[in-house]
Amino acid sequence: MAGDFHTPVLANETVELLVWDPSGVYVDCTVGGGGHSHLIIDRLDPQGTLIGIDRDRDAIEQARRVLPDRVALHHGSFADLLARIAEDRKGGIHGILMDLGVSSFQLDEPQRGFSYREPGPLDLRMDPSRGQSAGELLRQMSLDELTAAIRDLGEDNQARRIARAIVSARGRRPIRTTEDLAGAIRECVPATQHKSLPRVFQALRILVNDELSELDHGLEQAWSLLTNGGRLAVISYHSLEDRRVKQFFRDRTQPADSPRLPIAIDTPPPEGRRLTGKPLRPSASEISRNPRARSARLRAIEKAISQG
Ligand code: SAH
Repeated sequence: MAGDFHTPVLANETVELLVWDPSGVYVDCTVGGGGHSHLIIDRLDPQGTLIGIDRDRDAIEQARRVLPDRVALHHGSFADLLARIAEDRKGGIHGILMDLGVSSFQLDEPQRGFSYREPGPLDLRMDPSRGQSAGELLRQMSLDELTAAIRDLGEDNQARRIARAIVSARGRRPIRTTEDLAGAIRECVPATQHKSLPRVFQALRILVNDELSELDHGLEQAWSLLTNGGRLAVISYHSLEDRRVKQFFRDRTQPADSPRLPIAIDTPPPEGRRLTGKPLRPSASEISRNPRARSARLRAIEKAISQG
């Protein structure tokens, strides 16, 4: 199947929740190594349609290699592409999947600069053909901007201290590689504080790829494109993402288990129904097989059948 490129997380659980009409139209917004897409297409009838999106060209190439030709693949960000896809598909979409974050391939490829463990250029872009690399960004950010990013996007309570160390290091010589950055962080936080390294890399990754606004726009787009009864499933990997997904779903639903009584005559019915109360988490055995699954949370929502 997808080989070593990426192991799909919560694979059966996701597809089980997502695919409800085997002749419908489905969009995998984060096709990656094609793991989830493979399982989706396996469940569809010959009339069913699957469209895959990824902002990483390497992922699109990989998906093309492993997925059947009938899967249409598009390179670009899902926030941009969902609207365009919808124009061609006036009937609405039956299921949309977002498996957020980075693939194992991206993390393991040193040239992409995603990992503080691998020496490489400090890039961190999912689409290196667009925007600024993390290295370019780091050259321009003020101490306050850096502090805010590390605190708010990396959720590290030593943000100021780390930001100061970065500013001082870049005053001595440019920070161009993952090692330059990791070295600057290690100098200021004791070895026991090794969690700061992944946190700073997370902050830069979110910033460089504009991940939170991609998610906000993507959720809005996806919701508006779903047909009645259509489903949206989202797998998130850190609390900043999961909080947004949870709030977005909450705003469109009533708690699945508490009927609203009494119902006032002019109260509009909820737009949707949550298919997961608490998010689904990977089992211990999945985590032991695939440690990168450990922080995953899957939430799913269904658009109300009739809005009237
Ligand atoms: N579900 C896939 C793995 C997805 S990994 C599988 O089973 O193989 C996440 C992928 O999402 C990465 O390839 C990344 O490039 C892509 N991605 C992340 N944010 C994106 C966005 N806003 N638009 C399009 N692709 C995105």
